[in-house]
This record gives sequence, C-alpha cells and structure tokens, in this order.
Amino acid sequence: MGIKGRIAWRFMAEKANLTLLQALDGAIIELILKVNNGDIPKSNEDIMQVGRSMAPKLLAKFHDSVAKHAASFKEFKDTLNLAYKYNFGKEFTKVTYINDEGGERILYEDKECPLCREVTLSPEYKDLKYCNTIAGVFLEVLTLRGFEGIGREIQCKAAGAESCITEIRCIRELPVSTEHTA
Ligand SMILES: [Zn+2]
Repeated sequence: MGIKGRIAWRFMAEKANLTLLQALDGAIIELILKVNNGDIPKSNEDIMQVGRSMAPKLLAKFHDSVAKHAASFKEFKDTLNLAYKYNFGKEFTKVTYINDEGGERILYEDKECPLCREVTLSPEYKDLKYCNTIAGVFLEVLTLRGFEGIGREIQCKAAGAESCITEIRCIRELPVSTEHTA
C-alpha cells in the first residue's frame, strides 16, 4: 500500500450505512422523475443539483479530516478520488486526466459504483444519469475551489453500461488563493 492508500485508510470517514444511502438516493430520484413527469433531461439536471447541494458539507468534512485540496485542475484527479474513498471506502476503478485539443478533463470510472449497485433501470430510462449526483458534487467542489467547469455522468451502470463514468471539465481556473482560510 502506497502513501496515498495509508492516508486514505487513516482518515476514513465514519462508516455510513450504504443501504440507507442507496434507499434515500433511489427515493429522491423517483421523486425527481415524478415531479418532472418522466422528463429525463430535466431529471438528470435535478439529480445533478442534488449533488451540488450536498457538496459544501462534504467538502467541509473532508477538509476537516484530510485537509488536502487541489491547487491546480490536474490535482483533482487524486483529491476527488481520495474524497470518494474517504466516503465510500473504495477508490474509482480508473481515473484518467486528459489534456488535448478537446480541453482539460478528468474521467472517473467505477465498475462497482456504490450508488447504483443492484439497480437495473428499465429500457425507458436508458438515458437517465442515475449517479449524476456524483458529477454534481464534483462540479460544485470545483466551483467552491475557484474553478469554472462542467460536470456530467457520461455513462451509467444502472442504465446498462459496464461502468459508471463521471467527467469533469475545466473551463478556466479563477485567480483565487489556493490556501484554505477556514
Ligand atoms: Zn453508478
């Protein structure tokens, strides 16, 4: 186990009940679909908004326990993976940083996504981004840390893909201090 692994285990969050989280998440998504009369794009936006609203508390807790923040966009590759492990007890299967003509972005792939474990959506929901909350949390963390970006779930295991992939893109880094002053 490398240094990163040791840090992650030492600072593991208190054990959450995953079944409770899955049940709550599923109920919220059901409600969102109902409120939007089954409109999938609108529901995907709302699922992301739930994640964005969750982010400040998660970021504050993560800061108090780990105090490790990204100072450049590229560093979110490791810090968000560590935050994921801090909360779920496991890392992503694969995290990829890309910087080419398509721009600067990071892909977080999980073949055993905790949020949609045992969830199989019926074909009419194949475009539903069941784990878009994760994209929302990541995007809001990016914003709170002074970056302008885009977040989205690219594919979802609950909708039949072999893994869940969340993407965050950097539009620009805002000129703010990287020191945490709280
Ligand atoms: Zn998932």
